[in-house]
Amino acid sequence: MAQLADRFRAGDRMPSLFVGHGNPMNAIQDTAYSRGWAAAGAALPQPSAILCVSAHWMTRGATLVEVSARPPTIHDFSGFPRELYEQQYPAPGAPEMARRTVELLAAHHAASSEDWGLDHGAWAVLMHMYPQADVPVYQLSLDLSRPLGEHYALARELAALRGLGVLIVGSGNMVHNLPAMRPGAAPYDWAVDFDRLVAEAIAEHRFGALAEADRLGALMRQAHPTVEHFLPLLYTLGVADPADEVTFFNEGIDLASVSMRCCLLA
Ligand code: ZN
Repeated sequence: MAQLADRFRAGDRMPSLFVGHGNPMNAIQDTAYSRGWAAAGAALPQPSAILCVSAHWMTRGATLVEVSARPPTIHDFSGFPRELYEQQYPAPGAPEMARRTVELLAAHHAASSEDWGLDHGAWAVLMHMYPQADVPVYQLSLDLSRPLGEHYALARELAALRGLGVLIVGSGNMVHNLPAMRPGAAPYDWAVDFDRLVAEAIAEHRFGALAEADRLGALMRQAHPTVEHFLPLLYTLGVADPADEVTFFNEGIDLASVSMRCCLLA
């Protein structure tokens, strides 16, 4: 990550990032994963704003963009220690950039919203990447009524934001099977296989193949019984182009069925 910082110059367009967020406890624990996020934040150029596409803002029939100036911290999980519910990530919103984003997505009928804020897919990672909470953050929802390919097509309209200093962060997991989760257990073979398959496709710039991942059938359903943690990856890849170099970090399968692999395209 430190070498990465040397590649960036002021005024360069922003990289595109995918983070595997996994267990919300990484927000308040010093783990190999949280340290990896912190190192990435330190290596990247300072963004003018962050657009986070999190697995945890799901909508149906509409793509929404959060435009509020003061997005609240949302504690969208249950059964965790009180300390996690006490966390606040007071980053400002980015109303102007958010409204511009709605305009970029006019053909896809996106709309503005003030009903969300920052869910843990955003803040659990960003509090390590940007602990000062001084970079404006806004979110885009995942319209679950759309097929994978439409998410990818929609994401491509967002590529122009990189030139405006916006860091686009897809936050999900490359493998995410909650019912199969086993704390302390070795990774399932299918989890390792799917993680590798996705990583190879990214490394070879076969992004379109991942936008058709539902063709993988049983393997896809095992890695993602529901697709919301996979979809954010299509946004990270949708704003990427062939000139981007791929860097992976935080590789590893946590809880036997959750890939924590992150990737940076710059
Ligand atoms: Zn999640």
